[in-house]
Amino acid sequence: MQERGRFEGGCAWVDGDYVALTEARIPIIDMGFLRCDATYDVVSVWNNRFFRLEDHLDRFEAGWKSLHMTPPLSRDGMKDILVECVMRTGLENAYVAMILTRGVALPGVRDPRVMENRFYAYAAPFVSIFKPEDQELGAHLVVSRETIRIPSRAVDPRVKNFHWGDMVGGLFEAYQRGGQTVVLADADGNITEGPGFNIFAYCDDVLLTPASGVLEGITRRTVLELAAELGIAVREDLFGVEVLRSAAEIFITSTAGGIMPVTTLDGRTVGRGRPGPVTSRLRRRYWEVHDEESWTTPVD
Ligand code: PLP
Repeated sequence: MQERGRFEGGCAWVDGDYVALTEARIPIIDMGFLRCDATYDVVSVWNNRFFRLEDHLDRFEAGWKSLHMTPPLSRDGMKDILVECVMRTGLENAYVAMILTRGVALPGVRDPRVMENRFYAYAAPFVSIFKPEDQELGAHLVVSRETIRIPSRAVDPRVKNFHWGDMVGGLFEAYQRGGQTVVLADADGNITEGPGFNIFAYCDDVLLTPASGVLEGITRRTVLELAAELGIAVREDLFGVEVLRSAAEIFITSTAGGIMPVTTLDGRTVGRGRPGPVTSRLRRRYWEVHDEESWTTPVD
């Protein structure tokens, strides 16, 4: 009971031990902190079940391989730690992060090849990009005019990363313009993604999402699969802000919140100003499959 109290706000795995999330610390010379030299993933737990855990682990693995990293534990070993973090919190709905950093750089050592990569993990209460009330009514999204997405050839967006300078700059612009979050375009004006989410636009009876220059979100993939099941036409493509402006419906997708409707774009109403029928159908089905065995893994 006392353990449960200690981990109620979250439980982390650091240096071979489970600690309360607010007490979890990393060494100041971990290159994950000093150089953003890290990759991570976030999986959700909903009603005591992980959603698409193996798909998140596959993406995490592809990420660390692309960064020439090797975790200090087996994939099963890491999975056991994720489960244990959730169990210790007792949370039914959780946000579960796994992180691999380049590791600690001893004085004078700058060669990333010789560093021992470090694994960290934590489980925290489930978080959502848009508050529940905004999910019912739809939120206000701003397309940045000042900041472009970091080019893919500089930082590969398919490797989930902490290079969020563009996202944070964009958020300040969005708040200044009355928005709740921001979406960034690339240097050619193609819409990409925003802080922690992918984007979809429903235009002329087709659901569009950026084809490249983005993290291949697990929620994005789920939407593509559920749209096929529901008979909704989809197209992965490159498109600019004018396509978003002409959309009948817009929504964003993230493990942190699922499918979240956008009803205002740059201060203008999207469609009828409330979550549209395609968004609502997908959203309903998205939460339904969180209780289905084929999509989920029980925590215990
Ligand atoms: N794009 C970025 C930049 C992200 O950081 C995230 C998630 O954090 C996403 C998209 C959505 O990915 P997922 O649906 O796997 O959570």
